[in-house]
Amino acid sequence: MENCLFCKIAAKQIPAAVVHEDEDLMVFKDINPAAPVHLLIIPKLHLSTLSDCKPEHAPLLGKMLALVPQLAEQHDIAVAYEADGTPARGYKTLINSGPDGGQEVYHLHMHLYGGPRPWRGMRT
Ligand code: 5GP
Ligand code: ZN
Repeated sequence: MENCLFCKIAAKQIPAAVVHEDEDLMVFKDINPAAPVHLLIIPKLHLSTLSDCKPEHAPLLGKMLALVPQLAEQHDIAVAYEADGTPARGYKTLINSGPDGGQEVYHLHMHLYGGPRPWRGMRT
């Protein structure tokens, strides 16, 4: 897709701090992080929004989500359990869709936020 920022990052025409790449996905650090860890998980395939996804995209969407535990481990934000079983650490995944959803870049992406709080602009 011409003139799509994230397509250009996926094609390595624009630099990004890439932390993972495979045949379908790319993961890079958000340029304006809202949390100590703030990654963007994108499909290499151009899909503008989640609303443009069809049932045939389910494996790709599943792959994006299924990558999160591995990324969380690598960035030390995975959920851990205290000796008494209380959960600690953790992260948030978020897909903004359309103007009312707060989407600014129209190439599907999932945010992965984590690390010690506070995080910018998020109370929960
Ligand atoms: P959205 O609001 O569309 O869900 O989020 C877009 C995200 O892309 C924002 O968090 C913004 O900081 C990030 N972003 C925008 N331009 C660039 C860029 O050129 N490189 C990187 N790494 N992130 C970007
Ligand atoms: Zn694109």
